[in-house]
Amino acid sequence: MSAVEADVVIVGGGLVGCAAALRLRERGASVAVVEKNQLGAAASGVNFGGVRRNGRKLAELGIAARALGIWKRLPELVGSDCEYAITGNIKVARSEEHMVQIAAHAEAQAGYGVEVEMLSRNALLDRYPWLGPSAIGAAFCPSDGQANPRLVGPAFARAARAAGAELFELDGAAHVERDGNGFVVETESGRTLRGGALINSAGAWGGRLSARFGEPVEIWPMEPQMVVTEPAPYFMEPVLAVVGGDVYARQIPRGNVIFGGRSGTADLDVGFGKVHAEESLTTLARTIDIIPCVADLAVIRFWSGVEGCTPDHLPVLCPSRTTPGLVHAFGFSGHGFCLGPASGAVAAELALDGRTETPIEGLDLSRFDTAEQPAST
Ligand SMILES: Cc1cc2nc3c(=O)[nH]c(=O)nc-3n(C[C@H](O)[C@H](O)[C@H](O)COP(=O)(O)OP(=O)(O)OC[C@H]3O[C@@H](n4cnc5c(N)ncnc54)[C@H](O)[C@@H]3O)c2cc1C
Repeated sequence: MSAVEADVVIVGGGLVGCAAALRLRERGASVAVVEKNQLGAAASGVNFGGVRRNGRKLAELGIAARALGIWKRLPELVGSDCEYAITGNIKVARSEEHMVQIAAHAEAQAGYGVEVEMLSRNALLDRYPWLGPSAIGAAFCPSDGQANPRLVGPAFARAARAAGAELFELDGAAHVERDGNGFVVETESGRTLRGGALINSAGAWGGRLSARFGEPVEIWPMEPQMVVTEPAPYFMEPVLAVVGGDVYARQIPRGNVIFGGRSGTADLDVGFGKVHAEESLTTLARTIDIIPCVADLAVIRFWSGVEGCTPDHLPVLCPSRTTPGLVHAFGFSGHGFCLGPASGAVAAELALDGRTETPIEGLDLSRFDTAEQPAST
């Protein structure tokens, strides 16, 4: 097999890697992606599907703003809307303390262009009569929404391939090293790829790759557990999340209600998340508490996936500090589906230009030298 030569080699063909590949082709750079499994099938393909800015840590809001612009242009960019819809998001409080918390966060995020409407209990129940009595108020963000994760990563992969990117799946990067002014990647099947720059978008496995270049990141697998019901008449337009994150739910127009809130387990060497029945039952009980009519629906499936979680629950999105030409974009800590399209674009720009116009302060590795992060809600 002759070596594949590209301006940029990407390790990890999830949403971030595929979005990076598309952006690189838009910029005229040659790009090759290696994916050990199937493109877009890891965390990017099994997640809950929430696309939100409301309640995020402030350090992510610059990139979330760019992401919103990309989500709105999906048909033009990748040939499909991927069932993306702006349905709004309600962050629900179940105590006065939580109300104070979301009100404070609403004020902080308003400075970043994220507008929410604070709803009292009466206003909330008037608007969403399907909510249970434990909901005492909420922050409603009309610009948030949802999309079908099964469609998004593959759509970016197809668009990148159609634009000239080379994408290899079922062929993991087994060995990666700096070679002269660039990088060489040897894959499990014996393929060799050479690139002037390298993007590490290996998701939960990104810390393993960064460690090879002397930049270990404490990253552990997180495995949100998802539940889906049979279809029901459509009643629930916005995505719902409760403060603390122990319930989030959405209903798709076909009628199924999808919800989550607890975690399974995962082993990075095995590569998929294992569902725990008792955790799913806890999620079910908590969801019924907030959305009582879910009690009447049959659950038809449970699943989980593997995501990489960093100590401060923020992604690593930055140029390497040890290795010129290396860019890290991993560890999205359970909320990188929304950020994925923009994070890929930013990684592409960092690989080509060493810089990006998108604010990514606070997402580099220096934060692990010192800082503490403000809380999200
Ligand atoms: C169940 C669940 C629910 C979630 N819900 C939401 C949500 O509602 N909203 C939201 O914003 N986010 C959500 N997330 C998080 C979101 O899915 C992820 O943050 C996002 O998909 C990360 O994209 P990625 O491309 O970095 O990672 P991934 O999609 O995991 O892609 C990384 C890829 O790298 C590949 N790889 C790793 N090592 C190698 C190697 N050596 N060689 C080749 N390939 C390699 C992997 O196989 C994988 O395909 C959820 C995650 C899960 C698991």
